[in-house]
Amino acid sequence: MIKKAIFSIILFVVVVNMLKGQNYDWKQQTINYVKVDSITYYFPSNISIEDRVKIIDDCKKDIKANLMILNEKEYNKAIDVVFVNTRKEILRYTGQQGRGVAYYYRNAVFSLTNQNDSPIKHEMMHMMSAELWGIPANSSLWIYEGIATLSGGYCSNYTLDEVYQYYLQSGKVIGIDSLAHNFRNYNDVITYTESAFLTKYLMDNYGYDKLKKLWAKGLESFKEIYGFSVNGLEEKLVSEFKIKYPKKIAFDWEEFNKGCN
Ligand SMILES: [Zn+2]
Repeated sequence: MIKKAIFSIILFVVVVNMLKGQNYDWKQQTINYVKVDSITYYFPSNISIEDRVKIIDDCKKDIKANLMILNEKEYNKAIDVVFVNTRKEILRYTGQQGRGVAYYYRNAVFSLTNQNDSPIKHEMMHMMSAELWGIPANSSLWIYEGIATLSGGYCSNYTLDEVYQYYLQSGKVIGIDSLAHNFRNYNDVITYTESAFLTKYLMDNYGYDKLKKLWAKGLESFKEIYGFSVNGLEEKLVSEFKIKYPKKIAFDWEEFNKGCN
């Protein structure tokens, strides 16, 4: 008898809740996903199949290009790459502002679907570098962003050398020590591009082994790794650039400072 009564109460509660739900204005959202190699790609349904295939093909090319930049052979990690239509969705899913977000610990990348100036290559580089080189030291955030900027670009036709020369001639250059310890406190157009320049400079002139050590150990170990100080590097760059660019270059800072939007 008691059992029957309990059952009736439960049934009553379930039915009432179901009826309640009927009053809500339910909507359905379709997410399309496909696994290609080790990556599962998610797309909103308004993106055509043709565009999805193009975006996936581009991602495959980005992975190859990033492997070249990292001087590594393969990347097979199972991750989710989630494309969304708006910045608002990026914020909703990740809690972060931006055109793309890489979540290494969640094995997931979120990116806008825009095909021009897409952030996906940059975000994929974050996933790949953290996997293949390890989690960078706190004071290596600038290399982490620098290498991703080297990969994904910076929405300008100026070369990194020209950009660095402009920072030198205009007094906008940020000291490497400040880049390493206060990265988020400066104009991000400058921090990202200056870091890309410096990362490439270290990579090209002193090789990957040292750069990977710096990545893992942080700026505190710079002298021990390179055999000269951070100031020494900055002085060397100033004298090299004096020879390379004896005169000031023309540079449209206002345009450049708009970044990728
Ligand atoms: Zn980044």
